[in-house]
Amino acid sequence: MTQADQMRAATGSVSFGFRDVAPEEKTARVAEVFSRVARRYDLMNDLMSGGMHRAWKDRFVSRVRPRAGEEILDLAGGTGDIAFRLARSGARVVVADINPDMLKVGEERARRRGIRGLSFVEANAEALPFATGRFDAVTIAFGIRNVTHIDRALQESYRVLDWGGRFYCLEFSTTTWPGFARLYDLYSMEVVPRLGAAVARDAEAYRYLVESIRRFPPMDTFSGMIRDAGFSRVTATPILGGAVAIHAGWKI
Ligand code: SAM
Repeated sequence: MTQADQMRAATGSVSFGFRDVAPEEKTARVAEVFSRVARRYDLMNDLMSGGMHRAWKDRFVSRVRPRAGEEILDLAGGTGDIAFRLARSGARVVVADINPDMLKVGEERARRRGIRGLSFVEANAEALPFATGRFDAVTIAFGIRNVTHIDRALQESYRVLDWGGRFYCLEFSTTTWPGFARLYDLYSMEVVPRLGAAVARDAEAYRYLVESIRRFPPMDTFSGMIRDAGFSRVTATPILGGAVAIHAGWKI
């Protein structure tokens, strides 16, 4: 346990970017961040990642292997990027997100693109309003690090999965490529907040996004948390040396 982890354990605080705050404050602040960026979220994703997030999401969904007739929950689904890809298979997809502003953008995009088979539900990943064993798969992309109690969200994901169901998580992690790590540091701490200021007129929101990436546990720690929630056959697949990772686990 790091010193920061010990402090959090002692005070019950959680991380909000580089700061430690009370759990309720994190939930409220994350909500505020995503409400502020919702309208420019998709454009900013393209700018910040140089369009790479599209390839990561394609790869992620190909790992999930959605099939027609399945029911899939896309947690923290936001503006629908993962759900739209999942729905191409003919699977029914429930997009659940705590933030109504992000969901609204997602619903409008789905309507404009004529994507069917989706439903949008306002829900907290920590306390899902779905029956135990309902889903064939649960996905969460770039969402878990924003959740206040990650362990609860993992336990809920496990609960709503059917036996034999699969969990897939796409998230920023820690790259092990030394040269790239330095460049990536410089880019994310210096360039991303400036891009946020210029395009979304919100440097602070994008500073939070970068800081929350830094505070997220490395691949092996997060794999352990997935196992602790009950999942078996847990794997972690690094992308860009681990700057991004796909974690998977099974309810078997
Ligand atoms: N999955 C989408 C994607 O890949 O583009 C959106 C990711 S966005 C970075 C993070 C999302 O997590 C936001 O839409 C936010 O509202 C949602 N979120 C944060 N905390 C949550 C929670 N406790 N339960 C459900 N969604 C949450």
